[in-house]
Amino acid sequence: MSNEIRHHLTDEILMAYSAGSLNEAFSLMVASHVSLCDECRARLASFDAIGGALLDEAPTDTAALAPDSLQATMARIAAGPAQPARPRRRPGVLPAPLQDYVNGDVDKIRWRAVGMGVKQAILKTAPGATARLLYIPAGAAMPDHGHRGMEMTMVLQGAFSDDDDRFARGDVEIADEELHHTPVADISEDCICLAVTDAPLRFNSLLPRLAQPFLRI
Ligand code: ZN
Ligand code: ZN
Repeated sequence: MSNEIRHHLTDEILMAYSAGSLNEAFSLMVASHVSLCDECRARLASFDAIGGALLDEAPTDTAALAPDSLQATMARIAAGPAQPARPRRRPGVLPAPLQDYVNGDVDKIRWRAVGMGVKQAILKTAPGATARLLYIPAGAAMPDHGHRGMEMTMVLQGAFSDDDDRFARGDVEIADEELHHTPVADISEDCICLAVTDAPLRFNSLLPRLAQPFLRI
């Protein structure tokens, strides 16, 4: 299992997660990635430590923090334990946080056909964003689309490519209004992904556009 993750979460997203300001669907994405990725888990631990230390040192009156307090905090973090404990790994395709949502592994996912062999399962999360598992048959393409908000897609099994990059297990693609893409699953294996969106996608062709309200994509 020496799969190397090449596409990671941004500092902004890890900080927002650490501060508890992400909604449930995006929190699930971060928790799932961090459970597979040593690098992001270490960065998250640093943000948690900074947040905790700043809270500890927060003055009780309205005076600002001492100018050197951030430096002192950073020094303490640098001197502290380097690596957070490895989370317990459950065997299976789904990372532990996702297994909690589907009550098991891939065999417990209740797929619904989307068309062209693609299947999805929308997870029950609080409003504000949608989390879904996607099943893309080997070699199949998702309809060409753009984005009205943020879309984060993490590969759990197989791999997919779009115009300029390839994403394998643990990799996260972060797409926003700027990006227009047609993800295509690798030919060697069916692809399973976790996809989180905070706004409907923007499809070019008519058929997916007509189906959008029914599929909640
Ligand atoms: Zn990572
Ligand atoms: Zn997309």
